[in-house]
Amino acid sequence: MQGGAGAVGSGERYGDNYELPNATAYNETCAAIANVYWNQRMFQLHGEAKYIDVMEKIMYNGLISGVGLDGKSFFYTNAMEIKNSTTHKDREAERSGWFECSCCPTNVCRFLPSVPGYVYAQQGSDLYVNLLSTALHHCFLIRSRL
Ligand SMILES: [Zn+2]
Repeated sequence: MQGGAGAVGSGERYGDNYELPNATAYNETCAAIANVYWNQRMFQLHGEAKYIDVMEKIMYNGLISGVGLDGKSFFYTNAMEIKNSTTHKDREAERSGWFECSCCPTNVCRFLPSVPGYVYAQQGSDLYVNLLSTALHHCFLIRSRL
């Protein structure tokens, strides 16, 4: 798993078990964000680190790939391999500033300010340090300054 969710563009859905083709996996940015929300809430419910491990992988890979280093360009889909010759109908060859269905840029803008809330958790006298925040914060900070 690289943090993307939903390999099939038609219907924006999961495919068969282990279906995740490098060049054509759909992996919508919004699906990655939803997967973070899901795993964070499962962690809050069960307190198990396995949910944080998935959440971390998504945040560092399948989600942040949806935002360009300029902080102003976005992928709707996040194929794991982009070639200049990409012609698949559901794949983007490069990030764009805006697109007709603008769910992903607005979802990213909503998600980024919530990132500090994922770093730590507390229940009673237990403190959970969930994310290596320095690297993540640095990555988001660089993108927000550009
Ligand atoms: Zn979206």
